[in-house]
Amino acid sequence: MVSRTIPVDPFDLVIFGGTGDLARRKILPSLYRRYVAGQMPPDSRVIGAARTEATSEEYRDQIRSAMEEFLSPAKRDAASVEDFLRHVHYVQIDATGDTGWDDLKTLVRQDRINAFYFSVAPSLFGAIAERLHDRGIANAESRIVVEKPFGKDLETARKLNATLATYFTEQQIYRIDHYLGKETVQNLMAIRFANILFEPLWKTEYIDHVQITVAETVGVDGRGAYYDTSGAMRDMVQNHLMQLLCLIAMEPPYHFDPDAVRDEKLKVIRALEPVRPEDIVRGQYLAGGGKQGYREDAENPDSRTESYIALKAGIANWRWKNTPFYLRTGKRLRARTSEIAVFFRRPPHSIFDDPEGGRENVLVIRLQPNEGINLKVMIKEPGPGGMRLTQVPLDMSFAQALGPDGSDIPDAYERLVMDVIRGNQTLFMRGDEVEAAWAWADPIIQGWEARGDRPHSYEPATSGPEDALMLLHRDGRRWREIKE
Ligand code: NAP
Repeated sequence: MVSRTIPVDPFDLVIFGGTGDLARRKILPSLYRRYVAGQMPPDSRVIGAARTEATSEEYRDQIRSAMEEFLSPAKRDAASVEDFLRHVHYVQIDATGDTGWDDLKTLVRQDRINAFYFSVAPSLFGAIAERLHDRGIANAESRIVVEKPFGKDLETARKLNATLATYFTEQQIYRIDHYLGKETVQNLMAIRFANILFEPLWKTEYIDHVQITVAETVGVDGRGAYYDTSGAMRDMVQNHLMQLLCLIAMEPPYHFDPDAVRDEKLKVIRALEPVRPEDIVRGQYLAGGGKQGYREDAENPDSRTESYIALKAGIANWRWKNTPFYLRTGKRLRARTSEIAVFFRRPPHSIFDDPEGGRENVLVIRLQPNEGINLKVMIKEPGPGGMRLTQVPLDMSFAQALGPDGSDIPDAYERLVMDVIRGNQTLFMRGDEVEAAWAWADPIIQGWEARGDRPHSYEPATSGPEDALMLLHRDGRRWREIKE
């Protein structure tokens, strides 16, 4: 299946933090891939901006090596990288000072789409927004893209929203959550709202529970000091897992339109019940496999920050009242995998003697690795041995469907950056959504801080703390195994 590429209008995209890790690893390689796909009009420009002194030529050298480092040989070729680099420029700029802003103003054209990607620490967002606005570099049509973390609690998120709102309208602000750019996540909406098959069953009468898992094998290596001020709840649950939960739980929007979709997501967040302390398990990884434990990584021997969290969330509305959503995410776990598993209820009565006859169907939406969707159904075991039943997956791997090596599946950033240029905010978080998510997360965090709870320890390369198993056992359920 060849994916269709719809060209966008010519644009200037300025990347503040153009020399940083995210720009080199994700943003520029994604733009290159879109360039190769023919989506970037020939006279569009990408302008890196940071404090480091460099000419555009020196910056191109940096980006050339980033392409080699972060794109597999199958996804690049030297000639097209050189063509792409002709569109790349650099401006030396200090976000909090005066240097470079006049140069940027001269460079950015006002007669076309322009977008400004804030790939810098959030403490710089306000200074950049102010200068772009006050110096007339941005106009009423310009877009700004802001990276996570969007605040560290409700108060800071509100302040940040208010600061950005001083200079830009909500329609100009693109709060990125790269999970929403993943092909499977968008497919979740297609599966739910472009088929009649699932929607009639998509409610508490037929869905027993939902498990959302984002497991990582890496620790916090290298950014332990920062992570220790955040933790898994702030870093992953409040944003990424929450977005996944919303897409599973939301009502059908009246149209696939930014505000219609985001209105429905917001209703889900607002309907979330407070989480009881006994429904939360937090953990910290121990040393093992030649690697340090969390506390050494965080350089904080008394740290109470969680590198793992599992919790049971409830949604107080007619559709979901008796269907718990179990969320878990953690570092240094057995495998790197992200998935949503929707467990349907068992048939009310089994006509078969085989005990398997009463097994539940499970719809598994895999985000990584091997993006795809698989539905576990019961069939008769082949052969003449009587009516024996077995569970088999109806498997749809997007890699198989879209290309022989999966190379046609675009990276989430490819999709999202192009959506910014197209002016489509559907896959970006609205300000009120972010605030509602913090309003749910804040009391949970404040609760364990006030109680002085300490995270449980867990061995690396496992599925996390033992107590997290109990969270489901207690309800007569089991987590899906964490495996590649
Ligand atoms: P990074 O590697 O530390 O890069 C920071 C960038 O900001 C550098 O290009 C730096 O260049 C520039 N910068 C710092 N101070 C500046 C100033 N005063 N004026 C202008 N430029 C300045 O950080 P990163 O990992 O790329 O992350 C950037 C943002 O994305 C952060 O908000 C982070 O939370 C978020 N994020 C990152 C990732 C990731 O995978 N890396 C994932 C999700 C979100 P100079 O030193 O040359 O100025």
